Amino acid sequence: MQIGPVTLGGDAPIVVQSMTNTDTADIQGTTTQIMQLADAGSELVRITVNTEEAAAAVPAIVAELRRQGYLTPIVGDFHYNGHRLLQDYPAMAQALDKYRINPGNVGFGAKQDKQFSDMIALAIQYDKPVRIGVNWGSLDQSLLTRLMDENAKSAQPKEADEVAREALVVSALESAAKAEALGLPANRITLSCKVSRVQDLIAVYRSLAARCAYPLHLGLTEAGMGSKGIVASTAALSVLLQEGIGDTIRISLTPEPGGARTQEVEVAQQILQVMGLRSFNPLVTACPGCGRTTSTVFQELADEIQNYIKERMPVWANYDPLVKEMDVAVMGCIVNGPGESKHANIGISLPGTGESPVAPVFEDGKKVATLRGEDIADQFKARLEAYVESHYAVQPQQQAV
Ligand code: SF4
Repeated sequence: MQIGPVTLGGDAPIVVQSMTNTDTADIQGTTTQIMQLADAGSELVRITVNTEEAAAAVPAIVAELRRQGYLTPIVGDFHYNGHRLLQDYPAMAQALDKYRINPGNVGFGAKQDKQFSDMIALAIQYDKPVRIGVNWGSLDQSLLTRLMDENAKSAQPKEADEVAREALVVSALESAAKAEALGLPANRITLSCKVSRVQDLIAVYRSLAARCAYPLHLGLTEAGMGSKGIVASTAALSVLLQEGIGDTIRISLTPEPGGARTQEVEVAQQILQVMGLRSFNPLVTACPGCGRTTSTVFQELADEIQNYIKERMPVWANYDPLVKEMDVAVMGCIVNGPGESKHANIGISLPGTGESPVAPVFEDGKKVATLRGEDIADQFKARLEAYVESHYAVQPQQQAV
């Protein structure tokens, strides 16, 4: 599936996406946050389109992004009134690159079918792909009741949780079948079934992947804050990604007060990179430190190198893409330091407590220098820069070819 410059599904790399938390009616605030998310590496950004003011703001947001050179596809997230907003705000319907429709939130009773059909008709009219995004917290209750009733009558009834998981999957599959019957091509449909518990997510997506060929959007919904959200998302997604399930991911982290929204993008990239599925930035391998590192020099250096890489990546990104796979080791003492540094592209082994105050540097498995003095961090950064220049910089004559 092609969404602007992004290819989703099939053999395409797994796409990182994110969602804004600004009021979409705030054109400047939303545009700024989308640019921050895109700069952090989000390849698709979703915005809520929940009110008339939000719908009216969308064309201006997208126009400003494009004017500033941001081609990131923008996905509109619709609940309850999407059918009406898409109808009443044609410029918004046209400006968005994709619609997210939650079948549990498109109306109730007789209206449900009509409103879902209206949204699909508009997606066809504007030639937009759709994500049918089911969510545990807004599961279609009439469908759940139907499956619960069927289960109660069966000879071997399942546990209620199992029926609820099945209802999520059926909601996504039946909605996709309905969309196709209405004329939306299969290759314009993505599915998601988000839940907030790790084992439920794994079970639901295994079932979904076994029963359809649509691209799947993975994410643990309401993952939470801080390390809990990161750990839970990583645990769930890594199992599924390892099984080849998932074409795009979003990490639903609750930012710390005042924290950056872009953290969800960084975490998504790191999950994909540590699993060897994609490369985004050089990784720093650092030991945890122990009683052999009684000063803070080691932590400070690891932090400084990580930040230095982040700072330099916009420049290095113009070099050989293999720079993204560079492995940098910052180790605390002689026990594992030289060994780990030799395995990295470039590594430094700092002196542990009581060791001679020198820091050997290794490049491509060979010891190339011994740093000493107060400015070891600066010396190592200079070596790192020289390493990147000599191994990854594209020479002028190569660019001309
Ligand atoms: S490399 Fe040295 S400092 Fe780091 S954890 Fe191992 S023993 Fe401790």
